[in-house]
Amino acid sequence: MTTQSPKQARPAVPSTTPATWLGVMGGGQLGRMFAHAAQSMGFKVAVLEADADCPAGQVADHLLAAPYDDARALAELGGLCAAVTTEFENVSAQSLATLAGQTFVAPAASGVSIAQDRTAEKAFFTECGNRSGVLPAPHFVISSEADIAAIGGDLLPGILKTARMGYDGKGQVRVRTLDEVRAAFADMKGVTCVLEKMLPLAYEVSVLVARGDDGQAVVYPIAENVHRDGILFTTTVPGPNIKQDAAVRAQQAALQIIEGMHYVGVLCIEFFVLQDGSLVVNEMAPRPHNSGHYTIDACVTSQFEQQARAMARLPLGDTRQHSPAVMLNILGDVWYEGESVREPAWDQVLVLPGAHLHLYGKAEARRGRKMGHVTFTGATIEDAQKQLAAACAILGIAF
Ligand code: ATP
Ligand code: MG
Repeated sequence: MTTQSPKQARPAVPSTTPATWLGVMGGGQLGRMFAHAAQSMGFKVAVLEADADCPAGQVADHLLAAPYDDARALAELGGLCAAVTTEFENVSAQSLATLAGQTFVAPAASGVSIAQDRTAEKAFFTECGNRSGVLPAPHFVISSEADIAAIGGDLLPGILKTARMGYDGKGQVRVRTLDEVRAAFADMKGVTCVLEKMLPLAYEVSVLVARGDDGQAVVYPIAENVHRDGILFTTTVPGPNIKQDAAVRAQQAALQIIEGMHYVGVLCIEFFVLQDGSLVVNEMAPRPHNSGHYTIDACVTSQFEQQARAMARLPLGDTRQHSPAVMLNILGDVWYEGESVREPAWDQVLVLPGAHLHLYGKAEARRGRKMGHVTFTGATIEDAQKQLAAACAILGIAF
């Protein structure tokens, strides 16, 4: 449910004097790209993040360097901004609820708290799936060691996932037997987990949707995602494997999910397409998403501009894709040559036709750390893929 006070029921229109401010909780690359989009529309952007040299803080008009639950910083952000959003899904729902007492918050704490907890998320997906026909993977919630005995054999082999705080494959263990479940659950220090049946995936897709405070919702073209070591590797739109009927079913399911939460803002929902063609809903992110970065260079309205529009209660933008696109995540690994660290050859990447380079301003390149991405747009998806293969060769990424 959206919470708003009557004085804030108007759209937040960009303005110079006085400036109209939009706020973002979190200082990562999603906040940085949000700031770029909002600033280009004429908004000023305030970021709340403890790390002063964070990617979003570097470009923000105002940085509040404080923890996400700092009462004074929250009051300052809420007082300054016409609307506040979050770029980091593990910001406490309580902080968002506190902000909602002062300003318009989108997405609201209620939606974010469902996405923060796999048990709540799966229960909500099951409820929606009873209407849309798109259900989550068979699963079982484990809150204590005693629950393990009740696990049905049909859930194994499976993946044990922590209910909270998982990302990029962290907090996940593949398990084949009940003994392995016990050992993995003990390793997770007894936090609530969800055991999911391991499914025969044919490919993975995601659907970005956005909804305004007036209930109007829009959906982006479906994206096909390839992961490596649990981290998104590439996103291709249109995806080479995606069948039209699966795309429509996923988009309709995504629209039902966003409507079911009365959610305001950009939401990304990940799905699996199984080898028999059936569709399974995996998880959602209550914010712009890595698999939506292609929208910056390939769609009429990027996911970040869409977030600014939704939170400001301005009309939502056109989601049409104008160019086939493929996005490659750039991890810190490409800075390494053996043990030495050097800047990758961006000049060679940028000479490739259709290259759009986005670097996030992170000072230290670490293996597995998302440092940036490059999107190739082309006249055809094959053209874009050809350039992506060339970029991988230049950067030393196996393709
Ligand atoms: P994210 O970075 O997207 O937040 P995450 O760590 O929260 O990831 P998931 O998206 O649940 O985790 O899983 C990561 C990857 O593991 C999936 O993209 C998929 O490749 C694989 N995976 C997850 N669940 C299953 C399953 N039930 N069956 C088969 N593969 C799975
Ligand atoms: Mg995922």
